[in-house]
Amino acid sequence: SPILWWVRRDLRLSDNPALNAACASGRPVIPVCIHDDLVEGLGAAPKWRLGLGIEAFGQALARSGSRLILRRGDGLSVLRALVAETGAGAVIWTRAYDPDSVARDKAVKAALKGDGIDARSVPGHLLFEPWSVETGQGGFYKVYTPFWKTVCGREVPDPTPAPARISAPETWPASEGLSDWRMGAAMNRGAAVVARHVCVGEDAARGRLGGFVAEKIADYAQARDVPSADGTSRLSENLTYGEISPRSCWHAGRRAMEEGKPGAETFLKELVWREFAYHLVWHTPHIVTGNWRQEWDSFPWNTDDSAPEVVAWKRGRTGIEFVDAAMRELYVTGTMHNRGRMIVASYLTKHLMTHWRIGLDWFADTLIDWDPAANAMGWQWSAGSGPDATPYFRVFNPVTQLTKFDPKRHYVDAWIAEARRHPSETALSYFDAVPRSWDMSPKAAYPAPIVTAEEGRKRALAAYEARTF
Ligand code: FAD
Repeated sequence: SPILWWVRRDLRLSDNPALNAACASGRPVIPVCIHDDLVEGLGAAPKWRLGLGIEAFGQALARSGSRLILRRGDGLSVLRALVAETGAGAVIWTRAYDPDSVARDKAVKAALKGDGIDARSVPGHLLFEPWSVETGQGGFYKVYTPFWKTVCGREVPDPTPAPARISAPETWPASEGLSDWRMGAAMNRGAAVVARHVCVGEDAARGRLGGFVAEKIADYAQARDVPSADGTSRLSENLTYGEISPRSCWHAGRRAMEEGKPGAETFLKELVWREFAYHLVWHTPHIVTGNWRQEWDSFPWNTDDSAPEVVAWKRGRTGIEFVDAAMRELYVTGTMHNRGRMIVASYLTKHLMTHWRIGLDWFADTLIDWDPAANAMGWQWSAGSGPDATPYFRVFNPVTQLTKFDPKRHYVDAWIAEARRHPSETALSYFDAVPRSWDMSPKAAYPAPIVTAEEGRKRALAAYEARTF
């Protein structure tokens, strides 16, 4: 009888333990992708990008003589229906670690097992299972550096090639059409503009990794901090949908290290930040929605999503160039340089005294590389409410940061068009990306700062001093 492979965030044929195990079972393999409530609840951009990934992956499976069956409904009902239709005796999937997925998967596994189905989840999304990394006292890590020290010497198995053959069932169950899923329906920004910046599918991801290791990794340790430099891998987009495995990235980094490329170890450390984020989410799942340090619940954040300063932040109209450039980069490309993420998060939570949840939600709606763990950790790190966080009283100055990391103003010129005689093409493309209702024009005057670096700093520090914890 066939085995159902529930395809989720593992849109790849190579180094895919779930697919390998399905093939090794000797059964015909039926790959199935389910549009359930968790997919429905995704933000506009990640959902749209997931749709592109599913489309590419369906084509890749077809080239391998297989198919991707699409069904809408809750996971358990869909899987049960497919078991009934195909006579499948087993279901396998790659594990997820965020609380909503964990709750869903636990329930599905228990119910299928109750039906007598061999239901199994396997690793593949991470290098190290979150529970496999323990402190000397048997607890979990709250600080990155000792986490890194514990895992950096570990043996990571070599990535595996795509299976030579994916055995097909005699008859295929019916599939819904991807266009009926309307994955791009909520993209009320110019999807055609963002589409110029995506890099979809396993082959493209592998090309991206190869190019990064050949051309950029050597200088990565310095170039990664310069937002105009294109000095990072940009693999977050592919890692989040599983278009490339973390093991492939890890081993490419290790080889570069053995070849003496100086930035390679820094790259491995960044991959381990991703692991650390999942480690935290697994052990303290409330980090994805609430303050990790719960005393922060009483901090007087602004929680009004429609406050004028929040709207200005979202639209890249704060009058603070570094913040606005980064917010526009996000809107046009669906990603934002890490330095930009830190600056805009600090500005929102400190200068604008706004709850990090508002920023987290905006990122979850607009990033094509949205990742539940990295996003939550990043926001709480920036706000000061998380573990191993930057303390609240350390307020990034977005003006001096600009002088330091964009001294020649390449980054702000790439993204801000107002008040330029010859605005760059990328800066102008922002106005094609924004919804008409925002009523923005490159010809408008560039705004004065809604809150200056100095005012914001003073306000944030005063609120911090007056806190009750
Ligand atoms: P590279 O510099 O090439 O790094 C390689 C890989 O390491 C990345 O692809 C990523 O998987 C991982 N990585 C690097 N830095 C981090 C980090 N700080 N935390 C976790 N993993 C990291 N990353 C996301 O993937 N999705 C998010 O939704 C996300 N939200 C963030 C929100 C805030 C407020 C902050 C401060 C950071 C956030 N990050 C997020 C982390 C980081 O900014 C991005 O992973 C990085 O910019 C992606 O670019 P890259 O692939 O070129 O990274």
